[in-house]
Amino acid sequence: MRGELIAIGTELLMGETVDTNSAYLAQRLPAMGVEVRFVNVVGDQIEDLVEIFERGLSRSDLIITTGGLGPTDDDLTREAIARVFGEKIETDPDLLHSLQDFFRNRGTVMPPSNAKQAALIPSSRVLSNSRGTAPGWWVEKNGRVIVALPGVPLEMEHMWVNEVTPLLRGVANSSVIMTRTFKTFGLSESAVGETVEGLFGDRNPYLGIYARPDGIQLRLIAKGATEREALGLLAPAEAQIIKALESNIWGVDDETLEDRVANMLSERGLTVAVMESCTGGLLSSSITDVPGSSAFFQGGVVSYTENSKIQNGVDPEIIKSHGVVSASVVESMAESVRTSFGSDLGVGITGVAGPDPVGEVAPGNFYIGIAWAGGVSSTHHWVPPNRSIVKRRAVVSALIDMCNYLKTRPVG
Ligand code: AMP
Ligand code: MG
Repeated sequence: MRGELIAIGTELLMGETVDTNSAYLAQRLPAMGVEVRFVNVVGDQIEDLVEIFERGLSRSDLIITTGGLGPTDDDLTREAIARVFGEKIETDPDLLHSLQDFFRNRGTVMPPSNAKQAALIPSSRVLSNSRGTAPGWWVEKNGRVIVALPGVPLEMEHMWVNEVTPLLRGVANSSVIMTRTFKTFGLSESAVGETVEGLFGDRNPYLGIYARPDGIQLRLIAKGATEREALGLLAPAEAQIIKALESNIWGVDDETLEDRVANMLSERGLTVAVMESCTGGLLSSSITDVPGSSAFFQGGVVSYTENSKIQNGVDPEIIKSHGVVSASVVESMAESVRTSFGSDLGVGITGVAGPDPVGEVAPGNFYIGIAWAGGVSSTHHWVPPNRSIVKRRAVVSALIDMCNYLKTRPVG
């Protein structure tokens, strides 16, 4: 089934809001048998909406829109669908009552403009929205399906899971697309590519390679009549990738580096504490994104100035002789925080986020230190000097160094 997405809202065209809704849907549609061929972004103009809907209906079986279902005059998705199908919009009394109830349950009276959200056309059915006031539409006509979802990501995702996927299963069963992503570290894009060269060029499964902040990723895409058939097509290629890159693969599919570190620490029964400088707490924040992180994360210190590093146990002589952004200081940070928190591992980060250098050290340079009972090590990195890139890449490097260290420790 050929599908396309339309993200609706002038704020998306202005770059004020990033279109995350299309990414969410595009990741989920292939497994439902929908091949996404186009992703469109369009502003809140009725003639532009009508044009994009007409083009979509001429080339796709399914169109999914997000946005433009609100109560204000610039919310025109319903209006545009009615126009392209030549149908008349009418207020649905049941829907109007349920909207009024929604407001009553919150102790207020429904503003008159919200009545617009109770509109339907003869070919539409309601997708209920338990998270907000904008009901979605499922419209089937002339062998085409248009699904209109709200713009607010949490409302859209909830409606997708609870309302759309059951209906979609009924119409989209021609073929199923399954994907598998392998996440690697420690190798360049060309090095990863060379190890699996033989797999490129095949159509089914198709192999793509992507560079991401957390390393190089390989993605296999297989198409089959059933989920089982598609998985069967993936299997030999998966085995080949695992064989070629085993020691460099840190994760599969949705797994994050934070998840990986969390699993490795838990499997080994180890705890960690961190002392961060240039990342300003981002490593602690990333580690605590994982549910249950209190089992292994003892805590973190942001020692941003020289003085606070000294107060947190770094020897001032080391700072004086090596400079505050140095391997010796980051190792001392890792050792100090490990001692003060009584954790199995201590991790330190010091670097220059920029734009100005720190002493002799140019922006973009950072060091990661890892301390354990009886040892300490550090790595040096350089990335393009942009504050947010330096911070994020330093966190990624710290997590990768933690994985590499943890691999040397036995499980159990
Ligand atoms: P709307 O349904 O058009 O009133 O959109 C409501 C809000 O949802 C907007 O103000 C945006 O903040 C957000 N939003 C709309 N479309 C998207 C999108 N494609 N991706 C992420 N957020 C969106
Ligand atoms: Mg809008």
